[in-house]
Amino acid sequence: MTKETGLRPENTVSELHRLSLFAIVKLLKKKELTVKELLECYLQRLEEDERQPRESRINAVVYKNKEEALKQAANAPADSLLGGAPIIIKENLHLLGYPVRCASKILSNYKATYSSTAMLRLLKNGASIFATANMDEFAMGSANENSMHGFVCNPLAKDYIPGGSSGGPAAAVAGYFTSASIGSDTGGSIRQPAACCGVIGLKPTYGRVSRYGLVAFASSFDQIGPIARRVEDIALLLEAMAGHDEADSTSAKLPVPSYSKALETPIKNLHIALPKEYLGDTVHPQIRRAFMQAVDFYEKQGAKISEVSLPNTDYALSIYYILSTAEASSNLARFDGIRYGNPSKKAENLSDLFFRSRSEGFGDEVKRRIFTGSYVLSAGYYDDYYMKALKARRVVYDKYMAILKDADLLMMPTLPYRVFKRGKDHEDPTEMYRSDVFNVAANVVGLPSMSLPCAKDSLGLPISFQFMGRPFDEALMLRAAYLYQQEHGLPVFENAK
Ligand code: GLN
Repeated sequence: MTKETGLRPENTVSELHRLSLFAIVKLLKKKELTVKELLECYLQRLEEDERQPRESRINAVVYKNKEEALKQAANAPADSLLGGAPIIIKENLHLLGYPVRCASKILSNYKATYSSTAMLRLLKNGASIFATANMDEFAMGSANENSMHGFVCNPLAKDYIPGGSSGGPAAAVAGYFTSASIGSDTGGSIRQPAACCGVIGLKPTYGRVSRYGLVAFASSFDQIGPIARRVEDIALLLEAMAGHDEADSTSAKLPVPSYSKALETPIKNLHIALPKEYLGDTVHPQIRRAFMQAVDFYEKQGAKISEVSLPNTDYALSIYYILSTAEASSNLARFDGIRYGNPSKKAENLSDLFFRSRSEGFGDEVKRRIFTGSYVLSAGYYDDYYMKALKARRVVYDKYMAILKDADLLMMPTLPYRVFKRGKDHEDPTEMYRSDVFNVAANVVGLPSMSLPCAKDSLGLPISFQFMGRPFDEALMLRAAYLYQQEHGLPVFENAK
């Protein structure tokens, strides 16, 4: 396996687009590179992509704003963490003046009238945000095929899915349209697309990053997090965004460590637990093999490896799809064509206006979630579904926490299946739901989780593993991932097929 070296300055002239965020920040600070040069490089690549026929256009980006990004970079405080470095954000994050369409027709005319806390922190830490990325409508999906902007292709193999719902942010990083991007993860939406595209994604602990200004899907699950090709880039972005915020009462009042500085700290007595339910028959043999090699790596580094059992793993999926749809049905009630959303032109009276605006504005998957959520919250079923799922959530949480008393990290494959082709699984949406089985638990229990690529399958497509850590101990996951990257190298994915 090749070690991705991160680029040295001598490579920069011809290969600007391959620079890691960390390398960019260094070069910007040394004035060996300008934000303008970098933006022009990314934008030229995006324009090239826009000229491609639909079937081979990656379509990761849905809005660009070079001028604003240049202004943001010019306003970056001296000696900021990110030094003006350009990044891309998912289209469900508010940044004043930028469209926040959530890939939905119902918000096709909506622009942010304020900025989310996480985006403001990024700007304050010297990021410049030059584009917004495609996604599944309202972050519901696992293939980025539910979007008013059209599907996103996996840059490694165009007829394959990039994953979802942050398919755009992941494909933008994998396709070298940016060094890093920001996504959101309610039930895997950062880690699963990162895994499909062969890049790294981190979902912070619930409460680590303020959700203020992230369009709510399921408020007790949602978190904002970074996607990048290098562990140090993930650390930088998390450090730039994390921390308590008065505007989000669920954000934790805890100090934010310097994640980027923590990376080099050696790890002593690491104990990694492997839940056997994540290694059952559903896991593809190529994935199992690659995963066990990654486990061997940690064992050779001196980690203690133990097998544990999380018998309620399957329940996490039901809990997720009951509670997240319930919360979504409530959160999406505001899109009524009056408070938010495009009003229908055909309406005859007020209730008809609500009805038509929502029928015309929402896509099928979003409607399906609203129906399911309204059902589980309805008078006759509330106790059987909603209440039961809430109680089960607590049981699952206790089980994970009991294991993490002993073990420092849980480790499992990010996906049990190989990356699949576009357009495959749409006939039965529950198939798609089942594909989230390894990703939703971290959101159900609110723990931090991080996915990184470790191998290529026989088609050259990525295989990844993920960690789950103790609440607010993102630093340990990052250090473990960094160790892997430094000692072992991450696979480099160029066009897989
Ligand atoms: N696949 C999950 C879903 O469709 C992902 C959601 C998310 O994390 N935004 O619900």
